[in-house]
Amino acid sequence: MGSFIVPKARRTTRSKTSANTKAAQEKPVAVAASPMESSASPSSPPAAAEGAPATGDHLAVFWHEGMLAHDAGRGVFDSGRDPGFLDVLDQHPENADRVRNMVSILRRGPISRFLSWHSGRPAHASELLSFHSAEYIEELVQANATGAKKLCEGTFLNPGSWGAALLAAGTTLSAMKHILDGHSKIAYALVRPPGHHAQPDHADGYCFLNNAGLAVNLALDSGLKKVAVVDIDVHYGNGTAEGFYNTDSVLTISLHMKHGSWGPSHPQSGSVDEIGEGRGLGYNLNIPLPNGSGDAGYEYAMNELVVPAIKKFQPDLLVFVVGQDSSAFDPNGRQCLTMDGYRKIGQIMRGMADEHSNGQILIVQEGGYHISYSAYCLHATLEGVLNLQAPLLDDPIAYYPEDEKYTMKVVDAMKKCWQESVPFLKDI
Ligand SMILES: [Zn+2]
Repeated sequence: MGSFIVPKARRTTRSKTSANTKAAQEKPVAVAASPMESSASPSSPPAAAEGAPATGDHLAVFWHEGMLAHDAGRGVFDSGRDPGFLDVLDQHPENADRVRNMVSILRRGPISRFLSWHSGRPAHASELLSFHSAEYIEELVQANATGAKKLCEGTFLNPGSWGAALLAAGTTLSAMKHILDGHSKIAYALVRPPGHHAQPDHADGYCFLNNAGLAVNLALDSGLKKVAVVDIDVHYGNGTAEGFYNTDSVLTISLHMKHGSWGPSHPQSGSVDEIGEGRGLGYNLNIPLPNGSGDAGYEYAMNELVVPAIKKFQPDLLVFVVGQDSSAFDPNGRQCLTMDGYRKIGQIMRGMADEHSNGQILIVQEGGYHISYSAYCLHATLEGVLNLQAPLLDDPIAYYPEDEKYTMKVVDAMKKCWQESVPFLKDI
């Protein structure tokens, strides 16, 4: 095990990150051996796929099939419960099949020629302490040692889960390092279990380790001064927000369904008035959107709220946290995005990166639970980030109605609220 990373004062979190325990420091990290997906090492120059354009028109995908080993079981939707009177129980929505399709559409879909593949790796326990408390990591290590544990509603650490979580964290760190080392401007961490609900000291919403948060801290440790996170998963990225709530080095922006708090593991409301504290005041921007906002509503929110905030903040690097559970068909969301909407959001993100952060974007996978449509929406998102002129893939099922007029009124109200309460955005 490598040297210990002592949490720095800059990483101010509302929950205390206290002295590291011996266990978290020295416990070896056990990950089931599995074949590497690519011969390219994460630190080697990107092996561009044949015919792939260079630089910013190329995207490096980081993946490791060991992440498929996490199995959250079956039950009534995500509850893990069997009432005894159903013949067929649901596979937990956060299952390996959804990600198998994401991998296969990127390998065999029309976008494949723009991608290169790189092998992920497990995180060391010591690396996790840049975002999480030692006590929490020890709790996860102990839970793994005992076999299986429900950490909170819908969140199950089963045999195989901890190894997958370490791979998700390490793979995201490798993708970030790839950008920081100058090998590629755009990298995508195709990871599960997801991470954006995981807070410094507890699990939440299918998440154990905050993959994006760890990557942000790696960027700051490597000398970047300002990183912006834009999260379009349909749920509030409360864990990431919590980790950076007191700092002005990281601007966290989350567009989400208005779901509010959902119990002790998720006390944050995701409302527009949770704007950070202390030095971080104004640097957490929540954009809770009405159900049914759809493609036009999201585009309006991006252009009216996200673009001006990023322009003011001037980040060195963008972290684009993607979840396809904001799609029209997701069992966990009601936002009605289609492939066109995801493609447009991807284009807007790319435009902001080109203008403000030297084209650098780390994309991190979160939710998205419709087993086929999530893969299509991911494909469209990456088409947008690559700024491809014409869609490569038609939408097979889009038809849901949108309620963008209501969303536009809500976005206008939020903009006014930011102008009044967020000092660095008073003249957007
Ligand atoms: Zn989600």
